[in-house]
Amino acid sequence: MTSRFADVIIDISHEKVDRPFQYIIPDELVTSVHVGVEVCIPFGRSNSIRRGYVVNITQTPSIEITKLKQIQAVEPESVTIEARQMKLAAWIKEQYGSTMIAALHIVLPVKQKSKALEKKTIVLILSQNEAKEKLEFFISKKQQARSRLLEALMETESLPFEIVTGKLNITAKTIRDLIEMGMIEVTSKLVYRNPVKSQKRESDYKTLSEQQRHTVETIVEESLQGNPGTYLIHGITGSGKTEVYMQLAQAMTAQGKQTILLIPEIALTYQTLMRFYNRFGDRVSIMNSRLSAGERFDQFERARKGDTDIMIGPRSALFAPFQNLGLIIIDEEHENSYKNESMPKYHAREVAIQIAKMSHASVVLGSATPSLESYYRTKTGEYRLFELTERLTGGTLPQTEIIDLREEMRSGNRSIFSRKLTDQIQDRLEKKEQIILFLNRRGYAGFVSCRSCGHVMKCPHCAISLSEHTNGKLICHYCGYEEAMVKSCPECGSKFIAGFKAGTQQIEEQIKKKFPKARVLRMDADSTRKKDSYREILSSFSNQEADILLGTQMIVKGHDFPKVTLVGILAADLSLHVNDFRAAERTFQLVTQAAGRAGRGEIPGEVIIQTYQPDHYSLIHAANHDYEGFYEEEIQYREMMMYPPAAHMLVVLLMNETELEGELLAKNLAKEIRLRSEAKGIVIVGPAPAAIGKINDIYRHVIYLRSCEYRRLTEIKEICESYFEKTGKNTEQIQFDFDPMGQY
Ligand code: ADP
Ligand code: ZN
Ligand code: ZN
Repeated sequence: MTSRFADVIIDISHEKVDRPFQYIIPDELVTSVHVGVEVCIPFGRSNSIRRGYVVNITQTPSIEITKLKQIQAVEPESVTIEARQMKLAAWIKEQYGSTMIAALHIVLPVKQKSKALEKKTIVLILSQNEAKEKLEFFISKKQQARSRLLEALMETESLPFEIVTGKLNITAKTIRDLIEMGMIEVTSKLVYRNPVKSQKRESDYKTLSEQQRHTVETIVEESLQGNPGTYLIHGITGSGKTEVYMQLAQAMTAQGKQTILLIPEIALTYQTLMRFYNRFGDRVSIMNSRLSAGERFDQFERARKGDTDIMIGPRSALFAPFQNLGLIIIDEEHENSYKNESMPKYHAREVAIQIAKMSHASVVLGSATPSLESYYRTKTGEYRLFELTERLTGGTLPQTEIIDLREEMRSGNRSIFSRKLTDQIQDRLEKKEQIILFLNRRGYAGFVSCRSCGHVMKCPHCAISLSEHTNGKLICHYCGYEEAMVKSCPECGSKFIAGFKAGTQQIEEQIKKKFPKARVLRMDADSTRKKDSYREILSSFSNQEADILLGTQMIVKGHDFPKVTLVGILAADLSLHVNDFRAAERTFQLVTQAAGRAGRGEIPGEVIIQTYQPDHYSLIHAANHDYEGFYEEEIQYREMMMYPPAAHMLVVLLMNETELEGELLAKNLAKEIRLRSEAKGIVIVGPAPAAIGKINDIYRHVIYLRSCEYRRLTEIKEICESYFEKTGKNTEQIQFDFDPMGQY
């Protein structure tokens, strides 16, 4: 007998319908209705037509057959989800807490079929010899952008327009110039790359170092033996991690398996992309958030059909529907962007491990500053650790020095630049070398406070500090609220109310005053708001059109600037004041990464770390390039406090339009949790108003829970869910965050 009944989840994000409804499969649809297919069904009293996903098919009805309605049609444009994706969605829902629909949206980032877009391609129309001549000319004229484009094209003959303007940092003007000079052409049909390269770069065939070889061989061997694992590669920048990734991917391809490579921010890693592109050509697909729905669909289709072996992209590339996945690589695995900050709040690392488990694939994590989580798991034996300790490009780690800003103050220097940093900047300006100045975060330091009574100016809607901008306004960075700068303190009337003068804009002004001849570029959220400005700033700095690049954490990763020989970290402890148990870890990572910007070229680099807390272990270990030392101190603190990774943590966030109601709900829910969970091994904190107590006029309350066992926390999540169901509350008012990365 054929299966005649389908359980369908309706595609609306509402608790009441976040369960399957059963429908009859009419005879004519029996062959086209499978698990995962999108169908049209009549729903509710009005029988309005809705869409839903088939999650199960059975032979027996769960209620009286006369009460069941029929599936009307199979959505012809729908992508069939394989059972695996469905299972994965169920796992995500269980693990992180969300509706099934929200989980399905995560594993199915591409839902609609749409026509493939026309692709623009830039083609070199010169012979290699002509191109070589031109290149020499551009180099002699120091025309860096032109040289860069030409050099890239000499290697591959044609390049997607996107890559040229994006990862390669080439402006439209440069492209126009080269077209006018008759050197390149822009075509809109797909130009296939010539598989036989006239000039394959030697660098494509690196002989692996002993450490690299050991890493690659072990991982490949275990995969071949049918025993794939999770591996962490801890390797300083330039130690050849990317080369390892490529050789691993190559080994997978040789076994007929596919690879997913996650990278944190596609715009930052042009170099990585190009290296994969050069080696694997058309077999590489790239996902990024700027792709249209149609383009994404194409990429996923290619993966499904087996037209591609390697998918590179941010978080969402994880869900590429490969038939025979062999390996998932997560580069810069410590990055915050691997955590999804909307519901379901999943972490790409954990989901990757789950996907790998389901497909018998290996997981490789890589970082110069691994997350405490991953390093901890190498100690517990869950992951296998590989260390890459040598810089393969020669070049030495920069020399570092910690400067005590309190000392500077005592000796009468009130400027944000210590005497040492001032001297060094002067020195580099004279030598025509480049300088990077790094300020931990925008807005954070821009708050306005009263020196008499301590009052801090806050947003009336969001309860976070307002930032002072040069246009004389105070601005809220959550909701955009603004008001005029105050002349006296609204609390006590004192005139000593002012901004903490350490925003990037103020520092830019101070640099200009102090070093009037220096050419300065500023890069922060404000200066990069316009599309492309980000790229323009970076390419202008790499073309040496400026001496100093001043910026927030945006500047610390990605790009190599060989001419940078001095990195100044202006107030390293700013990020230590953030109210978050990961503050020291973040500070260590940021300082290490910022320091890594110095001395990428031939000339050794120097790093100056200015701080009001020179004794803090995160700064001392960062200055000594000592990850292990930092880890040992930090993990003790986590263990003592039962913070992740020593334990697990769950934040239950409650949102309410009325403060009182929110508070009451939080209290009742906390009571329910205390009552229903055997308190053994679970630490319950709160409820309390969140640190950001209000966003857009919605009040936020939090309950923090900690336990050594993850499972205990998912039980708490279920208790909350059933409490909401029991009391008929709207589930949009509750969010769960396991092992949080963000702040509340
Ligand atoms: P990471 O990803 O750890 O920063 P990369 O893989 O980018 O390191 O390697 C840094 C540099 O060293 C690159 O220029 C790369 O081409 C080069 N490199 C990598 N592996 C080798 C090797 N085995 N022999 C020589 N050079 C190498
Ligand atoms: Zn005051
Ligand atoms: Zn606000």
